[in-house]
Amino acid sequence: MDFDLSPEQQQIRQTLDQFAAREILPHRARWDREGIFPRRVIEQLGELGFLGIAFEPRWGGGGADTLSLLTATECLSRHDASVGLTYAAHVSLAGAHIALFAGDEQRIRYLPGLVSGKLIGAWCLTEPDTGSDAAAMRTRAVRSGDNWTINGAKMFITNGTVADVYVVNAATSAQGGRDGASAFIVERGVKGLRNGRRIEKLGLRASDTGEVIFEDVVVPAGALIGELNAGYRQTLKVLEGGRIGVAAFAVGIARAGLEEALAYVRQRTQFGQRIADFQGVQWMLADMATRVEAAWLLACRAARLKDRGRPVGRAASIAKLYASEAAMWVTTKAVQLHGGYGYMSEFPVERYMRDAKLAEIGEGTSEIQRLLISKSLLAEGYLPEEPAAI
Ligand SMILES: Cc1cc2nc3c(=O)[nH]c(=O)nc-3n(C[C@H](O)[C@H](O)[C@H](O)COP(=O)(O)OP(=O)(O)OC[C@H]3O[C@@H](n4cnc5c(N)ncnc54)[C@H](O)[C@@H]3O)c2cc1C
Repeated sequence: MDFDLSPEQQQIRQTLDQFAAREILPHRARWDREGIFPRRVIEQLGELGFLGIAFEPRWGGGGADTLSLLTATECLSRHDASVGLTYAAHVSLAGAHIALFAGDEQRIRYLPGLVSGKLIGAWCLTEPDTGSDAAAMRTRAVRSGDNWTINGAKMFITNGTVADVYVVNAATSAQGGRDGASAFIVERGVKGLRNGRRIEKLGLRASDTGEVIFEDVVVPAGALIGELNAGYRQTLKVLEGGRIGVAAFAVGIARAGLEEALAYVRQRTQFGQRIADFQGVQWMLADMATRVEAAWLLACRAARLKDRGRPVGRAASIAKLYASEAAMWVTTKAVQLHGGYGYMSEFPVERYMRDAKLAEIGEGTSEIQRLLISKSLLAEGYLPEEPAAI
């Protein structure tokens, strides 16, 4: 496995660093404070080609590999985790679901808009009463003639109040669950679709999180994605890619915390010397860097497995679990190394710490990742995804 980024991937980083310096860094603290969703930034990412980076060229995409997508996700999240989350939900969840499972007619209708940033996508799985146990969803779609009628509510949906296109999971058989759910594409503006209350949150305050309510929403038969009752299986596949994306998102935040802490300890003095000269501080820095590196390598490994068509479920869960806990740990240490200033909002590290927490919750909590990893180990043993076999 090659650990270096290719020249193209280095170019992704460079372009996004320059873009962020102009369009994100000067505004991110205010966006966070005021809860402003920077829609224009998403459009600009579309204009630069980043929203379609890993989609096939025939849908307007760049045809790049998963590592390139991770590089973009990591980089955006390092500069602003809210933009990183918006990006990940749009590209790796809503966009990926359509790219992977929709028919050509649906792809032609939606992917060019999602890739250009003219349309924003949201992916709706979680409900007010079901999160970890997603198969217990209550949202229901019932067929009547040439249409489906959807009733139910989805909760904590990223881009939920700003999206133009929703990928919605709903039960389509009496028993619902794993073999009785299907995914649909629902467009904003359709009668009966509305957003519930605005949800205030701990971090990622410049990302949009909303409730999406469906009251007798009628969509044509052509809104069904792929096969009837295959929605849950599609969801599991989409989540494999999504979780690798969350790992990259977490690495970006962790790296931002490490870089900020490094800069701070070099200039802060106590007891007549730089705090960087204290061994206790140095060891903390070393542990932070070790976690950042390990998390990135696990994400890269999962990306490689995915691109080679190998089983990736366990590797994706391992990368997501480790990277999210690393991000929480590293950003907490970054606050610690700033002392009292770390607790103040004029320094960015408190925002990193608030933002990092989501990585341990979204797309399956750390407990659910541990459950999935151990289930796979007990069923298959360690070998199928052993690193040496890559
Ligand atoms: C900012 C944000 C953005 C989000 N974006 C989206 C989105 O775009 N689309 C979407 O569909 N969802 C989204 N979510 C929802 C997210 O995926 C869920 O919140 C998450 O899966 C957890 O579900 P829950 O909130 O219902 O928690 P619960 O499932 O109720 O979990 C509560 C606690 O119980 C634990 N627990 C549950 N089951 C078990 C078990 N079997 N063993 C051990 N512990 C267990 C959990 O780990 C957790 O600690 C988002 C959430 C947030 C916070």
